[in-house]
Amino acid sequence: MELALSPAAAGVLAGLEASGFRAWVVGGCVRDALRGEPPHDWDVCTDARPDQVTACFPRTAPTGLVHGTVTVLWGGTPVEVTTLRAESGYSDGRRPDHVEFVTDLTRDLARRDFTVNAMAWNLRTGLADPFGGQADLAAGVLRAVGRPEARFAEDALRILRGLRFSARLDFALEPATARAMERQAGRLRAIAAERVQAELDGLLLGAAAEGVLARWPAVLEPVLPEIAPAVGFAQHNPHHCLDVWGHTARAVGAAAADRAVRLTMLLHDLGKPGCFSLGPDGVGHFYGHAQRSAELAQAILTRLRYDHETRERVVRLVRLHDAPLPVEEKTARRLLNRLGERDARALIAVHRADTLALAPAYHDRLGELDALEALLEEQLAQNACFSLRQLAVNGRDLLAAGAAPGPAVGRILDALLQRVLAGELPNDRAALLAELPKYRK
Ligand code: ATP
Ligand code: MG
Repeated sequence: MELALSPAAAGVLAGLEASGFRAWVVGGCVRDALRGEPPHDWDVCTDARPDQVTACFPRTAPTGLVHGTVTVLWGGTPVEVTTLRAESGYSDGRRPDHVEFVTDLTRDLARRDFTVNAMAWNLRTGLADPFGGQADLAAGVLRAVGRPEARFAEDALRILRGLRFSARLDFALEPATARAMERQAGRLRAIAAERVQAELDGLLLGAAAEGVLARWPAVLEPVLPEIAPAVGFAQHNPHHCLDVWGHTARAVGAAAADRAVRLTMLLHDLGKPGCFSLGPDGVGHFYGHAQRSAELAQAILTRLRYDHETRERVVRLVRLHDAPLPVEEKTARRLLNRLGERDARALIAVHRADTLALAPAYHDRLGELDALEALLEEQLAQNACFSLRQLAVNGRDLLAAGAAPGPAVGRILDALLQRVLAGELPNDRAALLAELPKYRK
């Protein structure tokens, strides 16, 4: 069997072997190459120690010498080369107490998280697969290497990595692996928020995110306790054929693969259980839930240390996820005014995903959203006015036309812009100046 190595990876393997060492590409790149997906980077492992790796190549950088990692620059391409190692004694549930360099490939593969990530490939000897990774890859199964309980107790991050790989590869969790993930999930509280954030993003962007979210909320609950009330919460509403969490999972899966949009879908209805009321007709309502969800989103995104911009964007999209969006030019202009182009599009994507997760009888609204998006494109193409910057008059124009200096100028400009957005006035200098007398007291 051949693996379609990159020239840099092949060069580094050949270079190490020519110096008398053994070297393999290993881990995620082998998994992806075997699946026919070009790896985003190639990792190499070798029995050469870091100083010996450094001596083999003209250009290297000591990336993580304690962990045995040297970056080799092959042409312009960096390749990480790591000395084979065994790890032991994870007393903090995050990182090993002892790392030792070894010469036995299988010991290095044994410390890896999942069988599909624990394969290596050598130029002369081909695939090394002591834990059955290839069979699991073919069957679409994610299975811990070794005893799952022990492996997740060693390093709880593997639990989230497991969900992330399951979502990205659309692989089922092998039953014992899944049970251990559920039992050890509480250990996720010890994982740094930044790591949780990165894995959550990866999970949400996975092609099989819906299934993973719907099936494994209990694994996520230690880091996202706010989802617990949504799980199994019946909506008593004809629009919905799923409980709040099922709808959430479906909405994530239905959304465009954009980080902010998918985060919004994850969070958009978490306020529902706290806002539930049952009408006299037996129909469930969730008045005020968008605002409540926005508050929960703010708390969650802050706790998981999302950057300020992402937080602001997602909280706003959550707050607006059920705002009425009539199919009119002025809606398009107002969205552009309030949100800017990127988030105006994102909000339409949010409404679309939310609609796709409703009962099929209510999917008609998708046509309206398409029409609104077309209007948005049209307004952009026409260079329509949706901000003060684009208004055909500015403060100086107003002063020159006799407006009194002071804060009133800004108020007049805002009022004119609102009327242009609403389509009541054209964005035309003469027409706007002609309105001035109305604003004089
Ligand atoms: P990706 O496509 O996300 O990069 P990957 O499998 O390459 O997937 P990395 O985080 O780049 O993931 O790690 C490279 C390899 O190191 C993994 O394939 C796995 O063998 C091993 N590994 C990474 N993190 C862990 C961990 N926490 N526990 C055990 N093995 C790990
Ligand atoms: Mg990788």
